[in-house]
Amino acid sequence: MDNVSQSIRSRTMSRIHATNTSPEIKLRKAMWAAGIRGWRNNSSTILGHPDIVFKRKKVIIFVDGCFWHGCPLCCRIPTSRREYWESKIFKNNARDKKLSEQLEAEGWIVLRFWEHEIKKNIVSCVKAIFNVIIRSNYSFR
Ligand SMILES: [Zn+2]
Repeated sequence: MDNVSQSIRSRTMSRIHATNTSPEIKLRKAMWAAGIRGWRNNSSTILGHPDIVFKRKKVIIFVDGCFWHGCPLCCRIPTSRREYWESKIFKNNARDKKLSEQLEAEGWIVLRFWEHEIKKNIVSCVKAIFNVIIRSNYSFR
């Protein structure tokens, strides 16, 4: 690895250190390994503070934790305080859907991945990102 990419990477790693969950880090590492470049992490200027943003290409990626965001496959509501959790997770899930719609209305392409997709099939996640980026005439350098 050359010095430039080394420094970009350490800057990236330091920036994501505090706020990011491990599925996000795994996805970013896999994207980087696949040769994808030019995204920003945790944009604070865009609605919903997306995890990954390709600003010029108008592509946004969210990584949704299976529990907190109510994954239909993996989310198991705790048996104690069940109503509290159900309501909280339902609200999160509804907010995610509304946010995606709002961003799409602003012209963004929105990709959402479940935590379990990243854990179990990272390759198909990166392929999906790659395909969207290619279609938006992305240049790698
Ligand atoms: Zn899941």
